[in-house]
Formats: sequence, C-alpha cells, structure tokens
Amino acid sequence: MSDNYKILIIDDEEVVLDSCTEILRGSQYKLATASNGSLGLEMIEEFQPDLVFVDLKMPGMPGLEVLERVRAYDATIVTVVITGFATIGSAVDAMKRGAHDFLPKPFTPDEFRLIIRRALEKRKLILETLALRKEKEMLRANFAAIVSHELKSPLSAVQQNLFVLTSELSGQISSDQLVRLERMKFRIAELLELIRTWLRVISADIETIKENFEEIDIEPLIYTAIESVNSQATRKDIELHVHLDQPLSHVTGDSGTLTEVLVNILNNAVKYSYPGSEVRTEAFNQDGEVVISISDQGIGISDEDLPHIFSDFYSGKQGHQEEKGYGLGLALCSRIIEIHDGSITVESEPGKGSTFRVWLPTCPNESQANEPAIAGFSSSQLEGEL
Ligand code: ADP
Repeated sequence: MSDNYKILIIDDEEVVLDSCTEILRGSQYKLATASNGSLGLEMIEEFQPDLVFVDLKMPGMPGLEVLERVRAYDATIVTVVITGFATIGSAVDAMKRGAHDFLPKPFTPDEFRLIIRRALEKRKLILETLALRKEKEMLRANFAAIVSHELKSPLSAVQQNLFVLTSELSGQISSDQLVRLERMKFRIAELLELIRTWLRVISADIETIKENFEEIDIEPLIYTAIESVNSQATRKDIELHVHLDQPLSHVTGDSGTLTEVLVNILNNAVKYSYPGSEVRTEAFNQDGEVVISISDQGIGISDEDLPHIFSDFYSGKQGHQEEKGYGLGLALCSRIIEIHDGSITVESEPGKGSTFRVWLPTCPNESQANEPAIAGFSSSQLEGEL
C-alpha cells in the first residue's frame, strides 16, 4: 500500500484528536485534524484526504451533514464515522448514507489501525476501479479513432475506385463480371455503414446532437417510423396498430435521432415477429414522461440474452441467422436515449413476444401539449391499423 495516504479526522473532542495523532505518530500516513464540521470541510479541499473520520455528534454542523458534503465533493473519499455507544443507530444510518465503516468510542490503538487499514484498502480498490474505467474509455475512444482512420478511409477509397472502374469498364466486361463488381460495391457500402454506426455508438461526437435540442412533438416521429417499416411488415403479413393518447406531452430532443430509435425498435419488432402477427405502438403520458411502447408477438428474447441486448455487437442466440444484423441497433438506441436523459426498458417472453418502452422526460416549458390533434394525421389514424 502507498506510503502517502492522507487521513483527516473531524471531531470536536480534543482528547480524540490527540490520541489519534499519537497513535499514528511515526506511521507512513499524513494526518490532519479539524475540531468542527465547517473547518473539516475547508480542509478537505486543501488537504485532499483519502480517508475522513467524522464524529457524528458535534456542535455546529452535524456529522451526517459533513458526511454528505464530503461525499458530494468527492464520492471516492472513504468515510468512517466515529460514534459513541449511544449513537450506534445513527452510525447505521450514516452507513446507509454512504459511510464505509464506523469506529465506536472508546477505541484501542489496534482497533483504530485496523479500521484505517480496511478503509484504505477500500480506497485503493475505488481508485484502481476508476483508473481501469478511465483506461477502458480511452481504449474505446482510441479504437474509434483507429477504426475511423485505418478502416474507413481505405474502404472509401476502394469504393470510389470501384465506381470509376465500373463506369470505365462498362461495355467491355461480361454481365457476370459486372454482377461481381456490383456485389463488391454492395458489400463495401455495407461495411462502411457498419463502421459509421459503430463509430456513432462509441464516439462522444453524438453528444453534439444536444446542441440542437428543441421542443418536439413525438407523434409525427412515431408515424414516420411506422411508415418506414410498413413495406417490410406487409411482406410478412404483419399488422401495424397504433394508439396514441391525446394530447401527448412534448419532449426536448433531436427529431432525427429519436426517429432513428423508433425505426430501429420497430424494425426489430417486425424482423423478429412471426408472419401474420401484430405489432402495436402506443404512446402515453406518465408522471412527467412520455412513454412510447412497441410490442410484438414474435420470437421473444431469452433470459440469457435479455441483459445483453443493449451492448455493442450483441446478437441474440434466437432467430434466423439471415435476419440478424450486427447487434449495434439497440446499442445506438440506448446511447441516443441516454443523451435525451431518458431510458429504454424491455419485457419479453420467448415464443410470445417483446415490449420495448422508451421513456422521455416531458419538456419543462411544455406549451402546446394540450392542443388537439396534429396536422398531417387525421384523428382516425390515432387509433387503428395503418
Ligand atoms: P440486430 O441488428 O442483431 O437486430 P440489435 O442491437 O437491434 O441488433 O438487437 C440486438 C439483439 O436483440 C438482436 O440480435 C435480437 O436477438 C434481440 N432483439 C431485439 N429486438 C428484438 C425483438 N423485438 N424480438 C426479439 N429479439 C429482439
């Protein structure tokens, strides 16, 4: 363990501060003390401790408040509450609020050292986890840059050359050779699309959609999305039903990416549905959120797959191989909805179907929500089959 851990003790009893100082004299730790909560909080910024002991019963700012403020300042700082026998109940309370351990008074030097060792091990783990997470994020970001430069650029160049070649060779090559060239062009376009989608899932650039957020009526987006899967549904003899509560609250967001989310979910609903079944889209207001629910009666998702379907490149084990994509659609949806401060949930039963729900917070200065039906869609379309 590092020699440089810093420990701050906040306690109004001088005898406690003195005895702690005495116990740690000559140890590898750096120690600071404060005789009340306000002083302690001032010292946190200056001293940057790894571990803070807080007495629960102090005049002035109560220990629990000090604890909360330390956690608000930096949740990675490990906190231990010092408590008298009579306040064991509040120690439990403090631990519920995030304190890592408690030290009952009076304590022996060994008990004090043991608590410190345990707390600093915890701190070490927290810091290591943070460092690993940071490294993982950096790897992802670097990987995105590598993919974009090392794969996207040469593939685009190949695509460009193929276009030129196809036109230059027209009339000189057989129809078989032309079909092969067209197949190459198609596969390269597919690969470029895959790279583009994946880059959007992992890159921070997508955050920039926030700059164009505006008040949005979600209803036209729902109809646009439904229309975009209509022909695919017709081919499988799937009925598309829609029911939207009136009026639907407006949300704050980006129409383009929100439509993309709905198209993705509806696409999957149709793709993983049995022929002749139904896909139902509903939307309603609930507790300050607009909920869009898309249900199918398809193959469903196994319990084993369910926790992973929003991860990059995860394709479930069920379904026809030829229908599967790259497993990026839902990862992108979840990223887009996260940027909108919303969430996506899914309920599913294998063989019976799935329901995906998108939850979006209602626009705070929602003004037109109480206006009647939306231009472009007759009220008969608000409930029924498309
Ligand atoms: P894919 O391109 O593979 O469909 P997605 O990210 O859109 O990728 O979905 C991930 C996985 O989640 C799919 O491979 C599929 O197994 C499962 N899935 C998504 N939507 C549904 C659905 N409506 N019914 C059944 N399985 C689904």
